[in-house]
Amino acid sequence: MRTRLPAAGLLATLLLAAGCVVAIGGESRPSRHMTQGLAHGPHCADIELARSIEFSAERNQALAQIAALPDLTEHEQLFLVDTVTISDGFSADKTEVLVALAENPGLTQKARERMAIRIDQADLFSSDVQRISQALLPE
Ligand SMILES: [Zn+2]
Repeated sequence: MRTRLPAAGLLATLLLAAGCVVAIGGESRPSRHMTQGLAHGPHCADIELARSIEFSAERNQALAQIAALPDLTEHEQLFLVDTVTISDGFSADKTEVLVALAENPGLTQKARERMAIRIDQADLFSSDVQRISQALLPE
């Protein structure tokens, strides 16, 4: 039985090479998030778009709107927490996003814990940390 494997192998190599070129040639910084094979939620693309906004105030305003959505998945909540806490930006702007998420009734326990851990690394004023901590406290 003849096999076409060599041809298929060559095609796969070409496709992989093309993929690499596209990845390297891309304009925007590749997001680690989108290369993770996780179950993305319906708002992942919106978060990706918002996080690419250059200015802190506009970026975090867009992220805060997403953070207040009632139907965020846990994956999206964690992505938001990571995005905001590791980004550059003003303490007050980041706090708006984290408070919006903390006050979201759909906040999961895992996202709550992630936020509590990451707050320390987010380079926030202590008054802002206090605001977020209060929003995180269960009622
Ligand atoms: Zn995602």
